[in-house]
Amino acid sequence: MLNKIDLKGLSLEEMERFVADHGESAYRGRQLFHWIYGHGASAFAEMTDLPIALRARLAERASIGALVHLGREVSRDGTRKYLCGCTDGQAIETVLIPDERRLTACLSTQVGCALACAFCLTGHMGFVRHLQAGEIVDQVLVLQQDLQPGERIGNLVLMGMGEPLHNYDATVKALTILAHPLGLAYPPRRITLSTVGLVPEIVRLGQSGLGVNLAVSLHAATDELRDRLVPINRRYPLKVLMTALRAYPLPPRRRLTFEYVLIDGVNDRSEDARELVRLLRGLRCKINLLPLNEAPTILFRRPSQEHVEAFQRILKSAGILATIRESRGRDISAACGLLATVSTEKRLDTQACLT
Ligand code: SAH
Repeated sequence: MLNKIDLKGLSLEEMERFVADHGESAYRGRQLFHWIYGHGASAFAEMTDLPIALRARLAERASIGALVHLGREVSRDGTRKYLCGCTDGQAIETVLIPDERRLTACLSTQVGCALACAFCLTGHMGFVRHLQAGEIVDQVLVLQQDLQPGERIGNLVLMGMGEPLHNYDATVKALTILAHPLGLAYPPRRITLSTVGLVPEIVRLGQSGLGVNLAVSLHAATDELRDRLVPINRRYPLKVLMTALRAYPLPPRRRLTFEYVLIDGVNDRSEDARELVRLLRGLRCKINLLPLNEAPTILFRRPSQEHVEAFQRILKSAGILATIRESRGRDISAACGLLATVSTEKRLDTQACLT
């Protein structure tokens, strides 16, 4: 039997090449691309403007891979967490966060994560594998199939499981498909990639011309502290990171975003806020302050609301835009840093143990 090629995850150029190899014009490749990503088609039979004979040939030689929607949990605040199964039995989580006007989809880029930030459960899980471009894109298609009438996903954020820049090629390919007018057509200014600070890839991303927003998980303003919280800081210390960020080609009127998880007694003192002001001086940026989400295996505590507000006041009085971001979906572990999964195999094992 012929090994079928999975078309989900191919770029437009790759789809055009695929159809050309089968004697078809590039135009058919564009149609295929639009059906798979624009309409979320899951079978060639749906592609009614392709000749029947071509559909039959495609079905013989190609497949349209898809994540399996394994489960959904809904938080009291309306946040929805989806468990998506991959074909190899791995599982990832994808989160849909509503606010008054629109929905934000929070996508994963890896199963687990290699960066081991001290306060993050995905980090505690360790690295399992990179997601393929198709698996990153498909999370949006899974969410879209589950929307209520009138609901629309307005923003995409790569803030789920994994470090997007550690999986650079697949992430950039997925973003290209998500932003392509024939694909899912999300404008790049509505897409945000969040990174822990992999400097060479930040530089590459800037040069890629992709035009998505960049968020950097900072969490500390001195190397001494950041080395402990975000171990990759030992490889790319603050001086190197900030030099790359100051040189980052920001489109006009856009800002870099910094995420700063506030941890009681660790990085939430007034000196920490003043160090942060010094570090960010002159940068076009805003800061999202995230009071730590606690979990039994996270050894840190969340600061009091007063502490959080006092920290914000110091930043604001220095002229820095700083917002306090209450994480959504905490009751269903859908909040920042709480995403972690076990593979289907392991889940079945656990179930077997329980019965
Ligand atoms: N690896 C990328 C993408 C993940 S984004 C990155 O680190 O930027 C997830 C965000 O949630 C990151 O800013 C991360 O530092 C933050 N986070 C991790 N654990 C958290 C926790 N326990 N409470 C609040 N935020 C957390």
